[in-house]
Amino acid sequence: MPVDWVVIGLDNGGTTNNGTILDSDGQFLLDQMAEIPSDVREGPDKAIQCLVRSVEQVLGLTGVPITSVRAVGLDTPGPASGDGVISSKGATNFGHAGWRGFDIRGALAERLGLPVIYNNDGNSAALYAHHVRYGAESGKRSSVSAIVGTGLGGGIIEAGRVIKGAAGMAGELGHVPIPLDGLLDQGQPMPACNCGQSGDAESVASLTGIQKNLLPYWLSRYDSHEFAGLPIAAAAKLVRKSAEDGDELALAIFRQQAMAIGRLFTIAANFLDPDEYFLGGGVVEAAPHFRDWFFAEVRAHTVLREEQARAAEISLVPDLDMAGTRGSAYAARDWLASQAQPVKPAVL
Ligand SMILES: [Zn+2]
Repeated sequence: MPVDWVVIGLDNGGTTNNGTILDSDGQFLLDQMAEIPSDVREGPDKAIQCLVRSVEQVLGLTGVPITSVRAVGLDTPGPASGDGVISSKGATNFGHAGWRGFDIRGALAERLGLPVIYNNDGNSAALYAHHVRYGAESGKRSSVSAIVGTGLGGGIIEAGRVIKGAAGMAGELGHVPIPLDGLLDQGQPMPACNCGQSGDAESVASLTGIQKNLLPYWLSRYDSHEFAGLPIAAAAKLVRKSAEDGDELALAIFRQQAMAIGRLFTIAANFLDPDEYFLGGGVVEAAPHFRDWFFAEVRAHTVLREEQARAAEISLVPDLDMAGTRGSAYAARDWLASQAQPVKPAVL
């Protein structure tokens, strides 16, 4: 298929890279993700080679020549600067000493001889959700995405662009402190977050929050529960399934999570007043009856003014497994569209 030009999207994770390709007509040329090992734990040299292999892989799968590629979008887990410099303290996925302060965006751009546009993975997924919802209207709309996983990630999109902030730390929704009155049970300890704060959104609404804070407390209230005999990390991963089955302890945990997300969206409503609130993560990929209940709980605790409630919606982050990769491709395309001068093709 003849294409004018393409951009490539890469999602770099702790174990795998996912790649995709977006053409000048706005079509993704791959329906599925193209996956290869990321070798991130072996340090920057190996990992950059793997990212180059991801580029080769998507070109090979689609038969597009590298001379058609104008830019590459890349995302990784944080913390990193808005430009893709990994935190000097390292990060969960970047434990190898070589990663500290490493410019992953710059290194890949140099290897490929192409512009590389960087976002953290939460921001990239937020950008994808925004584009899927608004399409050609994306540049006129704003949205907030909260994605519940090991932590609570996401991002803020304003007028179609990722809000990165001065230090690249805007949109860290998980570390926004939320009011806890009426959320915590009587006598329940203040939940702690890995970031050092207490009572932020992630300390409640994340798998880590379940394991560190919510499950230990609720097990003290339901001491004969079957989870009491399990290691806490193993039990934490079973809570969602139990909630789907109507287990009281598990529902108490998810009720607190939904309330935390609703209160986070309430803060977002007053700061940004977005067109859309997106919710993503394991909880919304759960059994439909449980997902609908969880959504209703989130909505019930999202306090919007009448005018806002008429204007805004709360909905799912679509295709979450592909959201980072495809959001990266959109970021590359948006960057390309913003350039006054034509961008040169890659040199073989
Ligand atoms: Zn935090």
